[in-house]
Amino acid sequence: LSDVELAAVRADFPLLARTLRDGRPLVYLDSGATAQKPDPVLDAEQDFYLQRNAAVHRGAHQLAEEATDAFEKARESVARLVGADTDEIVWTSGATAALNLVAYSIGNASLGRGGQAARRLAVGPGDEIVVTEAEHHANLLPWQELCARTGATLRWLGVDDDGHIRVEDAATVVTERTKILAFTHVSNVTGAITPVAPLVARAREVGALVVLDACQSVPHLPVDVKALDVDFAAFSAHKMLGPTGVGALYGRRELLEIMPPFLVGGSMVEMVTMEATTYAPPPQRFEAGTQPVAQAVAMGAAADYLLELGMDHVAAHEVALTRALLEAVDLPGVRVIGPTDTTDRLAVVSFVVEGVHSHDVGQVLDDKGIAVRVGHHCAQPLHRRFGVAATTRASASVYTTLDDIAALREHLAGVRTFFGLS
Ligand code: PMP
Repeated sequence: LSDVELAAVRADFPLLARTLRDGRPLVYLDSGATAQKPDPVLDAEQDFYLQRNAAVHRGAHQLAEEATDAFEKARESVARLVGADTDEIVWTSGATAALNLVAYSIGNASLGRGGQAARRLAVGPGDEIVVTEAEHHANLLPWQELCARTGATLRWLGVDDDGHIRVEDAATVVTERTKILAFTHVSNVTGAITPVAPLVARAREVGALVVLDACQSVPHLPVDVKALDVDFAAFSAHKMLGPTGVGALYGRRELLEIMPPFLVGGSMVEMVTMEATTYAPPPQRFEAGTQPVAQAVAMGAAADYLLELGMDHVAAHEVALTRALLEAVDLPGVRVIGPTDTTDRLAVVSFVVEGVHSHDVGQVLDDKGIAVRVGHHCAQPLHRRFGVAATTRASASVYTTLDDIAALREHLAGVRTFFGLS
């Protein structure tokens, strides 16, 4: 983005204009945790409540029709953003819910639910589920639980010293026993982009399903689920300039069609008797109960906003920010956890300041108005892999400027001296 374009983008984000304690300007470098929201997203959510609020898919009245239209148009926008067909997008409350949906549905299939058709999804003793050591807990715990419930075994691909997933190990770790291969597209700690193609190719060789955690990629890169050829992809609105409380699961149509539901209740059935129920086709089968409708509409607006910026432009801006962030943290006593070359990684940079706890680093930066994240970022195994309990993480988004990153460098440079270290 040119300076002019970037200024125009920033003007869309009202929160970026606020000041902090002592009138300090906000330097927001925590977009990997959650992104700020532009006016079109805020307006879409408010407009829904001001003009269209009604229960969707039910009422026979005009408002219900308008609400349903807005809700379904938003599904189209989200589908367009990731190259899916509209009926392959399931609304969820977020990526965590989307990943649990897949794991619990497969668990239900493993219990015989979903009948004959769903049996090809079933897992049990002797079967394996493969994840990676780089996963956010949201793409690890659902699979641990599925294994515990079904008797399947969890295996994983390790991470090498520079933070890349050891894709080459898929040749031996992913085998004929593997039923599911679940991995993150971009690590929320190292920023490394996982090469999807060789993992999908290996999964196809052995007939395993591929589940992609696309939380950190969808807001920053052009993502086309069909071109990637994954079976499922999960992402959250709040990381892609949308609201909290909503997210989406992409599922390949022929899989969604045979999957038993996870949550059951209203709005997802065809026929209910006291004895039994037949379920609606996807995506409704997976959308039990009242959905976060206004939030879904706003997620659609976020998808439209990104599409209008152009994901190629967004990705190019990200490359410039990645380079700047890596240069900013290139300081004595600062160790980056993850790749330090700018290729195949995004502007999510986690680091350790030798001799200073990440919470103290965060505190010093906060005093200067710089918002970063500290801790294990819901990826304890990955931190353990690097022998650290916690890191400080700076992460960028479409509205991040080189000035934001310069401020980080300026104040990070003083952290070790502040704590009496040279
Ligand atoms: N996966 C990754 C890679 C993430 O970064 C996050 C959010 N930190 C999640 C999953 C979970 O997303 P949510 O909390 O929005 O469900």
